[in-house]
Amino acid sequence: MLNKGKFTALVTGASRGIGRGIALELAKAGGRVAINYAGNEVAANEALELVRAAGGDGFIVQGDVSVASDRARVVAETVRQFGRIDLLVNNAGVAPSVRADLLDAGEESFDRLFAINLKGPFFLTQLVAKQMLEQAPDAEGFRGRIVNITSISVYTASTNRGDYCMVKAGLAMMTKLFADRLATAGINVYEIRPGVIATDMTGGVKAKYDKLILEDERGISPIRRWGKPEDIGRAVRAIAEDRFPFTTGTAFDVDGGFHLQRL
Ligand code: NAP
Repeated sequence: MLNKGKFTALVTGASRGIGRGIALELAKAGGRVAINYAGNEVAANEALELVRAAGGDGFIVQGDVSVASDRARVVAETVRQFGRIDLLVNNAGVAPSVRADLLDAGEESFDRLFAINLKGPFFLTQLVAKQMLEQAPDAEGFRGRIVNITSISVYTASTNRGDYCMVKAGLAMMTKLFADRLATAGINVYEIRPGVIATDMTGGVKAKYDKLILEDERGISPIRRWGKPEDIGRAVRAIAEDRFPFTTGTAFDVDGGFHLQRL
């Protein structure tokens, strides 16, 4: 494991949902977690309490990933508190406020999703990668790990939220780019593609997905249940614990088998 027994992680959007689930699983492995959030300080403090109760430690750090000065402050604060960043998880993300048909979708939603879901992770990764490059490698030559939380939307067309699909596809390519650029420096980069996960983001479409997952004849995924934030957290933990040393640029489908083409 990186920085064994005391590895440090910066998880964006860790106050709620999948990010919180990731922070908790890292805490169970003894990790120290910088819990980034945008505006919900109450939820961020709750996440920190849970992290401590799970055996980890950390601190909360407000910052909008779409804002350059916020990204710089979040990274500086994490390095000040921890001394190094062993793992970056680009998890923060938003869905369109309104699901609009492809022919009517507006620029405002496109710009918002692009800024938060793709521009933010790209420039945050740039900053953190430079920090990791300055860090001494561990015994196996590893300087850090980067995980991008994308989606089944990377390859699934949803014509009522095309902007979301396009930015997630961009984030998948970003994974390959950084994986190639950083491999020789001992920094491996991964993509995790969650399926339908029960969080605030999917709260508004719960009835629709209840039907698709549980009631339809075969269900949209072979494993017929909602995903949990913990499912994604366990995958990130396996990466933090260095279970895949001879991999980089890999995409993990954590989706109940949604990605299978079935006949
Ligand atoms: P969520 O429950 O809505 O939580 C979103 C998190 O992101 C919150 O912690 C929020 O902070 C933070 N956030 C939002 N905008 C931010 C910004 N500009 N800067 C920093 N933090 C920001 O969402 P989720 O379902 O956990 O989704 C997490 C990630 O997984 C997203 O990238 C999403 O696209 C992806 N994903 C989700 C699903 C799913 O089914 N839920 C499926 C596939 C992929 P505050 O608490 O301060 O608002």
